[in-house]
Amino acid sequence: MADLDDLYREIILDHYKNPRNSGTIESPPALVEEGFNPLCGDEVKVYVVVGDGRIADIRISGQGCSISRSSASLMSQAVKGKPLSEVLEVLARFRRMMGVGEEEQGEPEVADVHNLGELAALQGVVKFPVRIKCATLPWNTLSAAIARASD
Ligand code: ZN
Repeated sequence: MADLDDLYREIILDHYKNPRNSGTIESPPALVEEGFNPLCGDEVKVYVVVGDGRIADIRISGQGCSISRSSASLMSQAVKGKPLSEVLEVLARFRRMMGVGEEEQGEPEVADVHNLGELAALQGVVKFPVRIKCATLPWNTLSAAIARASD
């Protein structure tokens, strides 16, 4: 399994060094949500533009460790352009992968195997419980932003 670990490590490093969708959104008006992980010092700010029930655009700024930064980048890639229903599904799947999911509500359908494939790179984090909050921080922050979208 060393090869798979290497591949996962490469994906995480790539997203850390070359974060996707990084930056801010000034206009059109975006939902902005901030998250903080005091255990590690990770800070994340998520900008989301919702249109036609989809995440039309997403940008992420902040600072933190390689796990939180790469998780944010992988997340932005996985949810951009996706309908909110699908985003919530990916969110739930990710939380289950991290072992922090809510109670099971049946097996979700796998709509985009490619994106979940790269997200799987973060699976190894589960072995390091103190880092789980680093990986879930961007997702919890996105979740809070989306919750405001449906107000
Ligand atoms: Zn961290």
